[in-house]
Amino acid sequence: MNILILGSGGREHALAWAVKQNPKCDRLIVAPGNAGIATVAECASLDILDADAVVTFAEENAIDFLIIGPEAPLAAGVADRCRDAGLKVFGPSQAAAQLEASKAFTKAICDSANAPTAAYARFTEAAPAKDYIRQQGAPIVVKADGLAAGKGVIVAMNEQDALDAIDDMFGGEFGSAGAEVVIEEFMEGEEASYFILVDGESVLPIGTAQDHKRVGEGDTGPNTGGMGAYSPAPVLSDDIAQKALNEIVIPTMKEMAKQGMPYQGVLYAGLMIKDGQPRLVEYNCRFGDPECQVLMMRLGGQALDLLLACAEGRLSDVSANWADDHAMTVVMAANGYPGSYEKGTVINGLGALPETSSEYTFHAGTAEKDGNIVATGGRVLNVTARGATLKEAADRAYAMIDQIDWPEGFCRRDIGWRAL
Ligand code: ATP
Repeated sequence: MNILILGSGGREHALAWAVKQNPKCDRLIVAPGNAGIATVAECASLDILDADAVVTFAEENAIDFLIIGPEAPLAAGVADRCRDAGLKVFGPSQAAAQLEASKAFTKAICDSANAPTAAYARFTEAAPAKDYIRQQGAPIVVKADGLAAGKGVIVAMNEQDALDAIDDMFGGEFGSAGAEVVIEEFMEGEEASYFILVDGESVLPIGTAQDHKRVGEGDTGPNTGGMGAYSPAPVLSDDIAQKALNEIVIPTMKEMAKQGMPYQGVLYAGLMIKDGQPRLVEYNCRFGDPECQVLMMRLGGQALDLLLACAEGRLSDVSANWADDHAMTVVMAANGYPGSYEKGTVINGLGALPETSSEYTFHAGTAEKDGNIVATGGRVLNVTARGATLKEAADRAYAMIDQIDWPEGFCRRDIGWRAL
């Protein structure tokens, strides 16, 4: 079977790595890909937000299965257009992808489904939003409704920060994403991510993970796209995961189908857990990056069978076979990230790293230049390993990092500290 994956990050490298291990995969193309992905798949340049271009490319290359990695093409309706053209697609429709693209939409679905989440109110004007904040008091959470690359959420520990956030959002800091604002009750607890395949009707959990958003050790400093992740997440015990499935995921998926927007693809539920009770923080409509890297390492080649079953509406016939182990990924980023950083610095030592089913370096932002691997982004490498314990996975990942010669890069040395 010929498979096309859209995307160019560590998430898509991990998807490609897993898919390629499955004997059903004959030809694998990733668009646009990166230097690491080029070692497991063909890379093709393609505007992945241009649905017509994706359809034409898929037809020219006799693609049998399309896997959409990032949220932007989903929100742009690329899955719909490709499905209309007769392609088999993994990824939700534009309507269903509103679960990620609009926070107000998700809150309304949760209301109808009676799913536990933070209390909230929606506003399109600053004055009533500020009145509401003064009434509720701090801590309180202010969110731009639309996609803002993780930057549109202000967890305000005092009232003034919340009021300032309202001015910023209605002042246009987040463009049209901030035209509507959702103000939420602050939830205490420990966060974890739960990944569930949904085929419109059936659901199949495929793993739990926790990530580290802050750039600094001890979870300090500014927010990033994620500095590392591990799976499974100890805080999401079997009991709590089952509760999250029964009380949050299944009711919201039923509600989506009832409203004519059946969900097909991976659902990423961001949960807050306190006193054994999960509540929904957010839904994303794609794999997390870097959480995907640890999930793919634990799933291996069967990932393709599961994604196919999801796209074909056969999830009730399959199950995920887990190795009873742990995986960790540590992100190496360019010095300065998440602020400004240098591009084009050379990374040495990658060639000597192990490449096995339990140790692998996924590339998030690299290119090949004059025979060298150079950094092209903020988050650059995802050094990933598994082990019988999380400690063993961590030791292996950091042993690999110690072999990488990249003075212009850094990583956090404490990934997994909460669980370890
Ligand atoms: P991303 O996609 O980067 O995860 P996002 O922009 O979709 O972020 P959310 O996930 O909704 O935004 O919020 C970002 C973070 O803010 C959460 O991971 C959580 O730590 C915190 N947060 C969001 N809502 C709440 C809440 N109601 N109570 C406490 N913390 C919250």
